[in-house]
Amino acid sequence: MSDDQESVIQIDDLESEFTEKVVNAGAEKLNYCFQCGVCSGSCPITRFNESFNPRRIMISTALGLPERVLQGNTIWLCATCYSCQERCPRDVQPADVIKAIRNQAVRTGITNPYFQTISATIVKEGRLFNEEEAEFFNEIRADMGLPPIPSLDLGEVSKIFQHTNVKKLLTTMTEEAESKT
Ligand code: SF4
Repeated sequence: MSDDQESVIQIDDLESEFTEKVVNAGAEKLNYCFQCGVCSGSCPITRFNESFNPRRIMISTALGLPERVLQGNTIWLCATCYSCQERCPRDVQPADVIKAIRNQAVRTGITNPYFQTISATIVKEGRLFNEEEAEFFNEIRADMGLPPIPSLDLGEVSKIFQHTNVKKLLTTMTEEAESKT
């Protein structure tokens, strides 16, 4: 299929349900977008990887084109730096729209292995690093005159993950990934 054919949108391709789900997941201002491109122009990721284009993500989501939004790894490239959020003249809050899309993607079983690993570490350790790494960071902190990293109540963290269903979700995703290998 040529690029021109790929860019043609067929009315049958539009899935308003997808837009609705993303809007309900926290992208309430999505439809304010008037496609100025300030978000893409401000994005440090787009500068290095043109496949990540927030403006295009906004329009594809507003139109209801999940295949275009979810294909590849693009939605996972956002570093949540909020440059777009600060500059959007319509207060669309593009970074939050992308977060809502990610949440919707995870609900439908689409995820990114890197995020899966990070989430699994947070579930296990209560934060992004283990005890050994904490010791290393504490040495650096001590050199800088900073107090050690506070200890964690893993029981409390575990309760949060249980109540928010994260543990269950991660187990399901890991099982699905293993069944595919
Ligand atoms: Fe849409 Fe805001 Fe991006 Fe402009 S900056 S394209 S209004 S999301």
